[in-house]
Amino acid sequence: MAQQPTVAIVGRPNVGKSTIFNRIAGDRISIVEDTPGVTRDRIYAHAEWLNQYFNIIDTGGIDIGDEPFLKQITAQAEVAIDEADVIIFMVDGKQGVTSADERVAKILYRSKKPVVLAVNKVDNQELRMNIYDFYSLGFGEPYAISGAHGIGLGDLLDQVVAHFPSESDTEEIDSIRFSLIGRPNVGKSSLVNSILGENRVIVSDVAGTTRDAINTTFDYQDQLFTMVDTAGLRKRGKVYENTERYSVMRAMKAIDDSDVVLMVINAEEGIREQDKRIAGYAHDAGRAIIVVVNKWDTVKKNTHSQHDFEIAFRTEFRYLSYAPIIFVSALTHQRLNQIPALIEEVNANHKQRIASSALNQVISDAIAMTPTPTVKSRRLRIYYATQVAVAPPTIVIFVNDPELMHFSYQRYLENQIRAHFDFKGTPIKILSRHRK
Ligand code: GDP
Ligand code: GDP
Repeated sequence: MAQQPTVAIVGRPNVGKSTIFNRIAGDRISIVEDTPGVTRDRIYAHAEWLNQYFNIIDTGGIDIGDEPFLKQITAQAEVAIDEADVIIFMVDGKQGVTSADERVAKILYRSKKPVVLAVNKVDNQELRMNIYDFYSLGFGEPYAISGAHGIGLGDLLDQVVAHFPSESDTEEIDSIRFSLIGRPNVGKSSLVNSILGENRVIVSDVAGTTRDAINTTFDYQDQLFTMVDTAGLRKRGKVYENTERYSVMRAMKAIDDSDVVLMVINAEEGIREQDKRIAGYAHDAGRAIIVVVNKWDTVKKNTHSQHDFEIAFRTEFRYLSYAPIIFVSALTHQRLNQIPALIEEVNANHKQRIASSALNQVISDAIAMTPTPTVKSRRLRIYYATQVAVAPPTIVIFVNDPELMHFSYQRYLENQIRAHFDFKGTPIKILSRHRK
């Protein structure tokens, strides 16, 4: 699992951060009204430029509450420094350099992160004359752009991707990457400490760990595991860390960086709305998932308690039927020693490849048991199936008409596949394609 670089946009309000964010992220249009501070519908997205994939953060969407203006932009600049590999510092070409810009610049000087200066709202040639004033901010060449007209973004992005860490800096070690995701207080940090306390932590100069300062690698029975974003789990105190948008963004980023996601639930409180959003993201991202019910020591046990909890969970999360559930306690260390082996197992399933011959046998048996559906007197015909990708396992089924593949029949096929191959812990993607 390769880590993708992260780009953050920072700058005082109303310079056009969210406009540019949406243009770069590109896959969904969000409304930017002509009023300052309109609520942003998202602050974290995937992006691509010339075949380079990265994540992008709009720090303007991290609102730390009723704090004074300077405190807000300071916090946003700190998020950029903490989270990004490259920072886009955005200013307003119509307004010129303001004291708030200088304030942001001062904070950015303190970081060693590369900064690319973007002068937005340069909508015409006349305004181009003004951009030289921005050299005074001390970040070299200002890049003139116009979010409104989509001008200059290519040159800006060329400059941004040029600063991405090179392949050799990010050389992967053969380790399984996992993250602990869940609401505040479910016990993530306690689990991190307990798990690390029981295993041999690798602090040596293994290739790939240098840039990985926020991750921790440990060895369990000759398999390396990398816990993603341990720094984020342990540190407390920065003003923005308690904001919901920041913690959700952080969780999404950790999920993107992981092979296996441990979704931590507090046994005392059960399942909450935020658990669902994050689980949905992990599922859609195609990650392997393990449900960790923590604080099991606090639950009064009778013979049914695990079973009852499991039923409640399965009812709320039907789409996660593949995810195993483990009941643990970070406090008493109950079952913590089973976690690494479980991660290893679901990771192997996530990367499993099944032979086409075996797959097609299962599918033709399935069709024999339950014939394909007919829509308006046209019957779905399945010709051939093949696994085209791993992590998550992705199966393409060639058919006469993909429209005839009903959701329910596809689910039936998935269940049949799962009954014959061990895909515990991993989602499976099934795509129907018209046979050429
Ligand atoms: P943010 O607060 O920095 O995220 O700024 P927004 O993206 O919300 O934009 C603030 C205002 O500037 C909005 O009214 C945008 O329509 C406007 N705006 C954004 N980009 C441009 C541009 O390139 N040219 C002009 N003229 N206006 C822009
Ligand atoms: P995080 O916000 O998810 O990182 O949660 P913490 O690890 O900070 O834990 C929140 C609180 O729950 C702390 O007071 C912990 O001591 C407590 N806690 C964590 N795990 C357990 C557990 O397994 N059992 C009990 N009884 N308390 C726990």
